[in-house]
Parts: sequence; C-alpha cells; structure tokens
Amino acid sequence: MDVMFAMVRVDDDNNNDDDGSGRGERMFCVIGDPIEHSLSPAMHNAVFSALGLGYRYVAIRVREDELSTAVEMLRERAYGFSVTIPHKIRIMGMLDDLDPICRRVNAVNTVKVDGSRMKGYNTDVHGFIQPLRRRGVILRGRSAMIMGAGGAARAVLVALIDERVGEVIIASRVEDEKVRILYEMARDAGIDCKVVRLNDAGAYSRGCDLIVNATPLGMHGYEDTSVLDSSDIDGGSIVYDLVYRPMETRLIRNALKARATVVYGYEMLVEQGARALGIWLGIDAPRDVMSRAVLSMLG
Ligand code: NAP
Repeated sequence: MDVMFAMVRVDDDNNNDDDGSGRGERMFCVIGDPIEHSLSPAMHNAVFSALGLGYRYVAIRVREDELSTAVEMLRERAYGFSVTIPHKIRIMGMLDDLDPICRRVNAVNTVKVDGSRMKGYNTDVHGFIQPLRRRGVILRGRSAMIMGAGGAARAVLVALIDERVGEVIIASRVEDEKVRILYEMARDAGIDCKVVRLNDAGAYSRGCDLIVNATPLGMHGYEDTSVLDSSDIDGGSIVYDLVYRPMETRLIRNALKARATVVYGYEMLVEQGARALGIWLGIDAPRDVMSRAVLSMLG
C-alpha cells in the first residue's frame, strides 16, 4: 500500500482519537489503483482549508490483493474514505452496512466509518443528476442515450430511472451481460429501452433530449475521439460527458458546435464529492471551492 500524499499531522481535536480507543489520528482518503492522478485530495483538502477544518485527505494506492487489509486498517484509521477502480464492487462484501442505492448501482464509492462500523454509499447517482437539476432540467418523460455500459453507465441509468425518463437508448460496443442487466433494469422500471451498437449511436442521437458519454473515449489515451460528430447532435439536446480530463473533450466541442447545452464531467466529480462530505461531516460543502481546486488541477 502506498500513500501518495504525505499524511500531515494537524494539531486539531478533530484529528485526535475521536473514539477514545487510543488508536490515534484518523484521516480521510481515497483508495484505488492507479491513484496517483486522483483529483480528490486537492478537491477535499480545499474544502477543509476553506472551512478551517483540521482534517487531511490523502490518496492511497491499494492493489486488488490488498483490499481486505486496507479496509481493516481504515476501520481503525479513517473517518471515511472514497473508493475507486478496481475496488468499487468487491468492497461491498467487506462492509457492515450498505445504503440501498449501492445494490442498485452495484458499487460503493464512499464509506463512512462510525466507531468501528463501516457503511457504504454511492454518491455517483446524486453527483450525476445534480448538475442537471442546477440547470433546471426536467427529465420526466424525455429521451436519453447512454453511451457505454460499465459502472458509470449503471449509476446514470439509476438516476434516469428515478427521474422517470420515458425512453433510454443504450449504445455499447458489445452486447454482454452488463448490457442485458441495464436493459432489464430500464424495462422493469417501465422505461422504453433500446440497445444499439456504439458505432451506430449517431443514427439515434438526434432527437434525444439527453446524451451521456459513459465511455472513456475523449479522455487522455483516447484524446480527440468522439462517438458523435456535431452533425449527430441537435441544438436542443443536452450533451453530458462524464470524462473530465481533459475538461473540454472532442464530444463537448462537437456539442458546442451544434449549439447544444453541455454538462462537463468535472461537475459530476464535484457533486459526488460534495455528497460524500455531507455523509461524512454533515456539511453543505462549498462547490465553488471544490470546482476551483479541480479546474486548477485540470489546467
Ligand atoms: P467501466 O466500468 O470500465 O466502463 C466503461 C464502458 O466504456 C464500458 O461499456 C466499455 O465497454 C466502454 N469502453 C471502454 N473502452 C472503450 C473503447 N475504447 N471504445 C468504446 N467503448 C469503450 O468504466 P466506468 O467506471 O463506467 O467509467 C466510464 C467513464 O466515466 C470513464 O472515463 C470515467 O473516468 C468516467 N467517470 C466519470 C465520473 C465523474 O465524476 N465525472 C464518475 C465515474 C466515471 P466494454 O464493456 O466493451 O469494455
């Protein structure tokens, strides 16, 4: 296990042995592998600093075979932690309690440690929908396309089900078990659902009220790649790219060219983090502080 950012001891009562067990200083952190490029420490530490809270949030690289050891270490040493790839599913079986949304999304991305009990949450569903709510978007009865069928696509679908969209198109490069589960979730919720090939997404995207990219296409490694051209996008659509690095992906540029409304991936990152801070500390985290920290990291 490698701690990626030096753990700083702070002389604040908040950081000292909160449960009286004599186990010493606790922290917040994110665990995953790889983890060195995580924006979460900058985002959360910016809040702690702005609010004058004496906490520290660090990134810890935890390999797959180290997960259970790490979870037991964090039971003693953390107030709460974030969970990212590749641990979001397997950690579900290692916690004492799960918020019901975790089973729907089949993933945990936030854990609260209360004494020695650990409860898992998923803040991606809220994180996804909040930037749309802030824009006053009402999705009830409307149509959406989700490109991709992985973990993020599932969180998006749960959010869209809860918003009672009328129709969902799932565009995926393969038709596998993940796609079948998404299809059945939508159908069981009474939503009209269609599965199409990712390469054919452009034939279905015009006329969709909301288009979401939940593939890595556009991120570093796939720069300047977009499933959709500007000619595939209606000006009246909302295009939401979950990719946040770079901030302005090829898909976002194509959507702006088509005069569509765009939602940036960093907005979801900030909202899911703000929700986590609410769960851990009961605070309404300052999104402006978090956004500034993220955007400065994104350059
Ligand atoms: P995931 O579980 O690995 O799923 C990725 C999906 O994209 C799968 O359907 C996969 O298809 C597909 N895909 C992968 N490589 C592809 C390629 N080269 N061409 C076409 N399709 C491809 O990943 P995830 O957790 O869902 O994350 C997806 C994206 O969302 C990532 O870029 C991630 O950074 C972003 N994300 C952002 C936020 C945020 O807060 N903004 C939160 C979560 C995720 P196969 O099944 O065929 O591999």
